[in-house]
Amino acid sequence: MPEAEALLREVFGFDAFRPGQGEIVEAVASGQNTLAIMPTGGGKSLCYQLPALLRHGVTVVISPLIALMRDQVRALREAGVEAGALTSGNTEEETDAVWAALDAGRLKLLYLAPERLASSGARDMLHRINVSLIAVDEAHCVSQWGHDFRPDYLRIGELREALDVPLAAFTATADEETRAEIVRRLFDGQQPQTFLRGFDRPNIHLAFAAKNSPRRQILDFATARRGQSGIVYCGTRARTESIAGALREAGLAAIHYHGGMEPDARRAAELQFQQDDGLIVVATVAFGMGVDKPDIRWVAHSDLPKSIEAYYQEIGRAGRDGAPAETLTLFGPDDIRLRRSQIDEGLAPPERRAADHARLNALLGLAEALECRRTTLLKYFGETCESCGNCDLCDRPPETFDGTEAVRKALSAILRTEEWFGAGHLIDILTGTVTDKVRERGHDSLPTFGVGQEFKKGEWQAIFRQMQGHDLIRPNGDRHGALFMTEAARPILRGEDTIRLRRDSITAAKANRRPAA
Ligand code: ADP
Ligand code: ZN
Repeated sequence: MPEAEALLREVFGFDAFRPGQGEIVEAVASGQNTLAIMPTGGGKSLCYQLPALLRHGVTVVISPLIALMRDQVRALREAGVEAGALTSGNTEEETDAVWAALDAGRLKLLYLAPERLASSGARDMLHRINVSLIAVDEAHCVSQWGHDFRPDYLRIGELREALDVPLAAFTATADEETRAEIVRRLFDGQQPQTFLRGFDRPNIHLAFAAKNSPRRQILDFATARRGQSGIVYCGTRARTESIAGALREAGLAAIHYHGGMEPDARRAAELQFQQDDGLIVVATVAFGMGVDKPDIRWVAHSDLPKSIEAYYQEIGRAGRDGAPAETLTLFGPDDIRLRRSQIDEGLAPPERRAADHARLNALLGLAEALECRRTTLLKYFGETCESCGNCDLCDRPPETFDGTEAVRKALSAILRTEEWFGAGHLIDILTGTVTDKVRERGHDSLPTFGVGQEFKKGEWQAIFRQMQGHDLIRPNGDRHGALFMTEAARPILRGEDTIRLRRDSITAAKANRRPAA
């Protein structure tokens, strides 16, 4: 549903659906009765808010949580969506404003506390306005045996029948008994379209690698999988063309795809990918929405995706047939800098920017994880899993060390130079390298000068990257990417917290010295 994807971006500011959301949105928007069981924090509200915008008339949202309703109404209004709530927490003016908006036919979402359903005034109103969907949050409240039983929830089934509109029920409680009771009481025993799927895709092998020489790394990955269909995602249009060219030079079947191409050329590329066996598409994120090819055997990222949601969605295009599929995501300090600056320089309001940074942090946490990637990924989406045995970290646990001292030295170098410098110069200071810049600034007389000689430069680069991955430091857009310390680093600096790091080394300098082909 391209329209849904556009609204997701434009209204909600998200770059991808979370696991499960896409299918649920589609079912709800098309008017099916649905029951979705999603973990807390999984992103349920979007599953009725977005369909509300796709449908005519008003979506009535019933929720027992007044504070949550008010938050959602405020967030929706900020995003330009007409929404209102009728709850016991309302002032008289607020209630009047909601009624006026309803009478004028302006409201898209009406949040309703369940006890309102007991009032005949509210029921009359619901019959008068054009209700097109009922969404029930915390649907397990209908269960008489549960802790959260709300007698007023028992009126919802009646309302659905009286209004004769589709109903979408959401809950995080998955036990069978509760589900059966929801079906009985809200759907009069007719089984709705039900979404209860783990988010895990166990056949997809997860792997990340530090970016040393991306073209070489992608080439090696693709060559080892010669003859298989795969997707390489790139951060820029130009890179899709250059990597596709490199793959072809290596004798692989590859085409590029990006949003700057003519619609006809894009459709032709999609069709070719769909039909050919063993073709590689090198693409920007513009590729994939309309593609339904079950036997994509691998997905590689030459650049870090935007968020953990985008990552999940993009790797999720591999192995839809259930057969083993592989992934590789490259990431480096430049990716982090780029993604941070895209957020900072974007037009989003400060609140949304903070959320975007948090989602980027989640992805970086996954990239720098020291134990099972799947455990880390699923935890973010509210699920648990044991060590999966199908990720690079389960295959080969990384060598780690207590990085607390190293991080404190790096932070001290940053603070002593007043957060005015990037990693290169800071590493020169730490390793006691006397460059012109070091001498000119007198940095060879800093107490931190030369205190980090136990690590080589490449190792320090890996430490700085991991510090960025843990959001201990960030590049400052106003100071040409000079690194500054975040609040998250303070406990480590003070010696109140420790950190383990991966023993890792960035060898970009060496790779770049290779003569250009
Ligand atoms: P719950 O399932 O607990 O009701 P919410 O709907 O409140 O969860 O969503 C939890 C968080 O996830 C919110 O902060 C929301 O902004 C965020 N979120 C929801 N969908 C997405 C998405 N597609 N991409 C990124 N963040 C999302
Ligand atoms: Zn694992």
